[in-house]
Amino acid sequence: MSAILKTYNRKKISFERGEGAFLYSKNKKKYLDFVQGIAVNCLGHANKSLINAINKQAKKVWHISNVFQIPEQERLARRLTKKTFADYVIFQNSGAEATEAAIKIARRYFYKKGQPKKNRILCIRNSFHGRTIATIFASNSKKMTEGFYPKADGFDHFDFGSHKELEKKITSKTAAIMVETIMGEGGIKVIPDFCLKGLRKLCNKKNILLILDEVQCGIGRSGKFFAFEYAKIKPDIVPIAKGIGGGFPIGACLVNKKVGNKMTPGTHGSTFGGNPLAMSVGNAVLDNLFKKNFLKNVKQNGEYFAKHLKSLKNKYPTVISEVRGLGLLLGIKLKVNNVKFIDKLLEKNLLTVKASENVVRLLPPLNVKKNEINKALEIIEKVCKTYK
Ligand SMILES: *Cc1c(COP(=O)(O)O)cnc(C)c1O
Repeated sequence: MSAILKTYNRKKISFERGEGAFLYSKNKKKYLDFVQGIAVNCLGHANKSLINAINKQAKKVWHISNVFQIPEQERLARRLTKKTFADYVIFQNSGAEATEAAIKIARRYFYKKGQPKKNRILCIRNSFHGRTIATIFASNSKKMTEGFYPKADGFDHFDFGSHKELEKKITSKTAAIMVETIMGEGGIKVIPDFCLKGLRKLCNKKNILLILDEVQCGIGRSGKFFAFEYAKIKPDIVPIAKGIGGGFPIGACLVNKKVGNKMTPGTHGSTFGGNPLAMSVGNAVLDNLFKKNFLKNVKQNGEYFAKHLKSLKNKYPTVISEVRGLGLLLGIKLKVNNVKFIDKLLEKNLLTVKASENVVRLLPPLNVKKNEINKALEIIEKVCKTYK
């Protein structure tokens, strides 16, 4: 009997080591890993530059309280702000904490402006922002909130794609609209550029902050550093996590000057957030991502992968109904059961993970090689054939 609380349906498999896009199980079988810790290991397993960075830092100092200056943290924040819309960064340890920080920062902004009642956050129904009390009620999905009442107040909801409901739900109390630029857990649903542009305009018009949760789709996953860059807009607040640590737990919230200036000493904090060990890895991740052509490769490989998945969809229309996503955040929506499909892929040594709406998520490392994508396509086609 396992002593782990049963909050996951775990596959009966464990791994001994990894290398790039591959994982090796205890019985020495080799698996192509297109889960990568759910879009976390952006540089694959056992990346040399990340190993060097963490080893080097581990010999110097691991943890320093945020009551002191942390130069490694200053550096990562500087680099993130230089590349993006943001002027400030606050470091956390997970995606849920990053989105919670985003909620606090939005509320604080209007509080300091003398509008304390403008404190409600408008979110997409059944989105995913984490598993804390506040973030589950931000999503408001039955599955995540059942048994966890009383409800954290202050969240309103609209359906993905429902412009009408969105406009209807905005009141004078709406402080922010918070959405995932690409819904990950929700089934790899991309908010189209014209909608993001419209959202930004709407927020400007109604004096509402725009929070784009890029915990899953950010840090190069979409083929741009942030997925919202495709729409050429600037949000006010952006929580990140997953990819930025390359496997080391890091969360962060990026904010613009207008909003960030309202956060003063004592308004937020974290014991672990932004410690030197984490920051050394974060900086090494950026060393790789900021290399010339890195993101271009993600985009090209993503397009290549999507194109071939679409031909599989055309070839096996009774199995695959849709190919979704951007960059290397891809999903195939199935007409057959996604969990069974995933088990069949696993049998053929390809690791994938499910998402809502009967989707199978494909999340290779961002530095995946074309022949590894081809191998995955081959396995997916073999599994498709079993349904004929
Ligand atoms: C994974 C995820 C989170 C939560 O991150 P944790 O590190 O699991 O707390 C929040 N938002 C989005 C979009 C995510 O994909």
